[in-house]
Amino acid sequence: PSPQDADRTLEIRIVPYGSDRQLLLARDVSELDRLETMRRDFVGNISHELRTPLTVLRGMSEQLNDSDAAASGELQRPLALMEQQVGRMSRLVDDLLLLSRLETESPPVEPGPVVVAELLRDVQDEAKALSGGEHTITLTADEALQVEGDRDELRSAFSNLVSNAVKYTEAGGRIDIRWFEAAGAACAAVADTGKGIPAHHLPRLTERFYRVDAGRASREGGTGLGLAIVKHVLSRHGARLSVTSEQGVGSTFTAVFPHYQRVKTTTPASQPD
Ligand code: ADP
Repeated sequence: PSPQDADRTLEIRIVPYGSDRQLLLARDVSELDRLETMRRDFVGNISHELRTPLTVLRGMSEQLNDSDAAASGELQRPLALMEQQVGRMSRLVDDLLLLSRLETESPPVEPGPVVVAELLRDVQDEAKALSGGEHTITLTADEALQVEGDRDELRSAFSNLVSNAVKYTEAGGRIDIRWFEAAGAACAAVADTGKGIPAHHLPRLTERFYRVDAGRASREGGTGLGLAIVKHVLSRHGARLSVTSEQGVGSTFTAVFPHYQRVKTTTPASQPD
């Protein structure tokens, strides 16, 4: 190889050829790689730049909302709408920044043991606040199951799954969160009794901005980036997302962690030496 070849990226595939032979295919994907890096950097930079003006706008719209002008009646609605839209844009920018960080940074530098049961209790509380008491939200968690990883990243993944369940389930519905061991993996499952997702949408759900029902999704204030974030966080933890859904019955999103530990939760009674 010549020096110019040093930063070339080749994609190598071996495919069956006839009944007893195989083909080795090599494709130069350096240009694709370069464009992908440019895209990621661009999105990351622009989100970062948008943050400051948005913070200013947000502060000002909150201030206006609390002012006498808002109380006068005529301005109440436009000001409330402004605050709502600025909030939505801030969530979008935060999600874009998080996603570009997850895409560009290497996996967590110093992963630590994460007590997932604890994390899920926080996520359950958050979901109850979001639901405003309109859904029954339960949690069953195996306290002894732990994974190695980044607590904040995992929290944002679980929180996206649970807040989706709340957003896409009618009032009066149920959301069950479970953390359990099955078939050699630790699983975090979020099951809802919502409207469900038609099967042909399932393979594309984790694409950025992919929505099943765009109208409903934007009314619910989603950014369209939640499941893309979930997918990236899980893959950084060696885990994957599986989804089953039935229209009119509900959906279950399961994060499957093949690497996990079972720790003793009770301290054995101390023995005299
Ligand atoms: P959004 O911010 O739009 O919720 P997500 O990436 O989190 O974006 O989800 C993508 C789409 O998947 C949503 O717009 C919605 O159509 C669908 N979806 C996600 N979770 C559920 C769920 N629990 N029930 C029904 N549809 C869902």
